[in-house]
Amino acid sequence: MSKPKLTLSIDVSRSRPWSGIVWHHSASPDGAARDWDAIRRYHTSYRIDGNIVAADEYKRRQVIGAGQSFQPPWSDIAYHGGTEWVNGQVVFNWGRPLSQIGAHAGVKGASNIYNTDYLGLCAVGDFDKAPPKPEHWEFNLQLTRAFMEAFHIPASHVIGHWEVFDRLGVPRQKSCPGKCWDVGLFRSEL
Ligand SMILES: [Zn+2]
Repeated sequence: MSKPKLTLSIDVSRSRPWSGIVWHHSASPDGAARDWDAIRRYHTSYRIDGNIVAADEYKRRQVIGAGQSFQPPWSDIAYHGGTEWVNGQVVFNWGRPLSQIGAHAGVKGASNIYNTDYLGLCAVGDFDKAPPKPEHWEFNLQLTRAFMEAFHIPASHVIGHWEVFDRLGVPRQKSCPGKCWDVGLFRSEL
């Protein structure tokens, strides 16, 4: 396995004092080209039941209650960064600025602390179906170590999204970052 290379410049002086990291998956296939921009477009659009809709359709359907889940646009992609395969190489994409709280790990009625205090990172792919490939796994470890070093984050504060629910003592609402992503193993390799 050839080691993927990661060069990252983290400006701690322009960041919130992050005390942990929450890992996510996109729960969608990782295409050959860059998927990150489509995820950003999705998060910054009006959405009904997981589909992008125009603003006028959103407002019309909201009035008559035609839909289950109504999500107005977020200011930016939910995460601070993410990883994916682009043209046969694993790459890192920056998300929202490190000075901004995330929109990735809030639990309605329980707590928003994992958005305000923990960085959100997302690996593109559906890891409910298969684990990350070795190169992607290794790259995610490297990325995590870089943020741990910059913000003095202990490995115990690197968690998978589903662990947010456990730590808050509420029922698990997600399998994110995927049933095949062993977060305990990931932590042990940091
Ligand atoms: Zn998640």
